[in-house]
Amino acid sequence: MEPIAATILVTNDDGIRAPGLAVLAEAMGTIAGRVIVAAPDREQSGIAHALTIRRPLRLEEVAPDRFAVDGSPADCVDLVVLGLLDEPPDLVVSGINPGFNLGDDVVYSGTVAGAREGHMLGIPSLAVSTAFEADERAYREAAAWAVRFARVLLEGRLPVRTFLNVNVPPGAERCRVTRQGRRASRPALLRRTDPKGKEYWWIGLAGSRWEPDGDADHAAVAEGIVSVTPLQLDATCREAFARLGALATCPTPVGEDR
Ligand code: MN
Repeated sequence: MEPIAATILVTNDDGIRAPGLAVLAEAMGTIAGRVIVAAPDREQSGIAHALTIRRPLRLEEVAPDRFAVDGSPADCVDLVVLGLLDEPPDLVVSGINPGFNLGDDVVYSGTVAGAREGHMLGIPSLAVSTAFEADERAYREAAAWAVRFARVLLEGRLPVRTFLNVNVPPGAERCRVTRQGRRASRPALLRRTDPKGKEYWWIGLAGSRWEPDGDADHAAVAEGIVSVTPLQLDATCREAFARLGALATCPTPVGEDR
C-alpha cells in the first residue's frame, strides 16, 4: 500500500508493552513511511492530560523508533513532537485502549489526552478504544477502523479544529457520528481496612448507567456500532452566554434568581 503519511506518532496510556499499542503501530505502518512509538513505561490509565513538570523526564529507546517514557501520554507526545522530530508528525494516534472511553470518562482518559495533546500542537489526532475484554481479533478490528479515520484526517477532509474519539465494539460493521454522553451513575468509593487495621479508600468503577441519549457515544457502542465523536478543546457553554451576560450587567448579583 502506498504511504499517505510521512510520519505517524503512536502513543497510549497502557504502557509500552500493551498489546493494543503494538497492533495499532503495525496498522499505521500500512499508511505511513515511518511510525514512531512513544508510550509510558508503565500503565497510566486515568492519568488524563497530566504533564510532568516537577521532575525531569527520561526516555529509553527500547527498539528502533520505540520509546518508553517515564511520564504521561501527553508527555510522550510533547517529547516526540517538540524534542525528537525536526518536522512534526502528520498524525498522532493514541490507543488501542482496552476499555471504551465514553461520556464522562473522556475527561479522565489518558488515551484521549494523548490525541488531545497532538491536536493542541496543531497535528491531526485521534484516540481509539475497544472493549475491556479485547482479544487479538478485537484489537485488529479496532486498528482497521483507526486506519479508516486516519485516512479521513490525513486527506484533510475534515477542515475544522477537532480531534476524534473512536470507540470500536468488537464485531462492529458500521459507524455513527456521536456526541459525548453523560454518565448517570457515580463511582463506587470502597472503604476497606488494611492488614494493620488502618482504614483506606479506593475509588472504584463508575458503573455504566448513562443519561438516555440516542445520539451519544455510549448509545452507539451499546448497539454494536463504532462511535466516532469529533471533540474540541473549547469547553465553553454557549447556551449560558446570554443569560450570564444579562445577569452580569443587571443590578442583582450573579447567581440570585431574578
Ligand atoms: Mn488505558
